[in-house]
Amino acid sequence: MAVCEVCGNDYWLAFEVRAASGDTHTFDSFECAIHRMAPTCEHCQCRIVGHGVEVDGRFFCCAHCARSSGMARGHEIKDTVGAHPS
Ligand SMILES: [Zn+2]
Ligand SMILES: [Zn+2]
Repeated sequence: MAVCEVCGNDYWLAFEVRAASGDTHTFDSFECAIHRMAPTCEHCQCRIVGHGVEVDGRFFCCAHCARSSGMARGHEIKDTVGAHPS
């Protein structure tokens, strides 16, 4: 049996997530995996569970947040999800 490293639940459907660093983490749910591993948007503090936006090593949930944080390159970033081709 695997025990979730966030909440301690011993769950037969627990799964492992291997990070790019090579560390392996065990969780019983995606909620716990997000809690432990998802980066946080610097602007609105929400968990980034989608692709998010990375600017100069800082993480944001969307292009709007990157621009709102005054990133020098913020104006270069566009959300592609749902964007209407123009
Ligand atoms: Zn858990
Ligand atoms: Zn945000």
